[in-house]
Amino acid sequence: MTKRKQAMPTIAFIGVGNMGGGMAANLAKAGHAVRAFDLSADAVARAVANGCTAVASAAEAADGADAIVTMLPAGAHVRAAYEGDLFAAAAPHAILIDCSTIDVATAKSVGEAAAQRGLAMVDAPVSGGTAAADGGTLTFMVGGPDAAFAAAKPILDAMGKAVIHAGGAGMGQAAKICNNMILGATMVATAEAFVLAEKLGLDAQTFFDISSRASGQSWSMTSYCPVPGPVPTSPANRDYQGGFAAALMLKDLKLAVAAATTAGASVPMGAQAEALYQLFANNGGGGQDFSAIVKLLRGPAIAVT
Ligand code: NAD
Repeated sequence: MTKRKQAMPTIAFIGVGNMGGGMAANLAKAGHAVRAFDLSADAVARAVANGCTAVASAAEAADGADAIVTMLPAGAHVRAAYEGDLFAAAAPHAILIDCSTIDVATAKSVGEAAAQRGLAMVDAPVSGGTAAADGGTLTFMVGGPDAAFAAAKPILDAMGKAVIHAGGAGMGQAAKICNNMILGATMVATAEAFVLAEKLGLDAQTFFDISSRASGQSWSMTSYCPVPGPVPTSPANRDYQGGFAAALMLKDLKLAVAAATTAGASVPMGAQAEALYQLFANNGGGGQDFSAIVKLLRGPAIAVT
């Protein structure tokens, strides 16, 4: 990689939606010139209102930029963006950063394709939702070569509170889906325990006071309790609005189970959580916070094969 410029890097930001909008705004706030491109004119307009400059295409955004950040829905969008426009338009010294949550195989293959072209690239999916994106408090899990991580880190620092190098290409995505598989499975386990406690006549707050200090404790219980009351900030206290949508949890569980199949790993708990979130989404729950899975478990007994 050639030596990077010393001036405040100019950044191309592709995909300024719910997450990317806040992230691009924080880069602009930090003093970067940010060129925003999105297929949605509304998304671009919001980015412009937050200090970014609108451009007409991904290629125009990338032309001469020091960094390219993408925040897109899924692997197919990421591959199309890089192979269609960005690899060709990227300056040789640019650092390429994909922050989308995508499948490990695509992340690895796009990262390797960048390396073959002599471009530095990392996969850098995030933990934290839109509030963390807006507030600049995301956690980034980063996959890619050491030099690419070093180049990406100052840019990621402007959008997050923690930036962790997970390994080579695709390992950021691997860390993300393994973490979220734990989250999905522990949320289901925690929610079903609260429902069982309720049906046994055990008060929810009392159960929380005991289990949060005993071996049933987890983030799903103490930071994000799926029933109203014990954790005042959890989405259960606002009818499961906002937070991390069940549809996005389902997406991450699908990625985890598919990756496990490819890797030959056995993930029965992850698969069970995926089946439950699928059922929940099929019944119209996809837009609610993922802790609302407790509603499904509270309903008539269900069998998930
Ligand atoms: P979103 O749909 O709000 O944003 C995606 C944006 O990409 C949209 O504005 C869309 O118009 C744009 N887009 C799609 N294809 C494009 C293309 N070819 N060129 C330019 N723009 C294009 O989604 P989001 O909630 O911001 O999520 C983005 C990514 O972040 C996803 O991979 C998601 O899984 C991940 N993520 C989301 C959250 C969350 O809480 N929303 C949390 C963590 C990770």
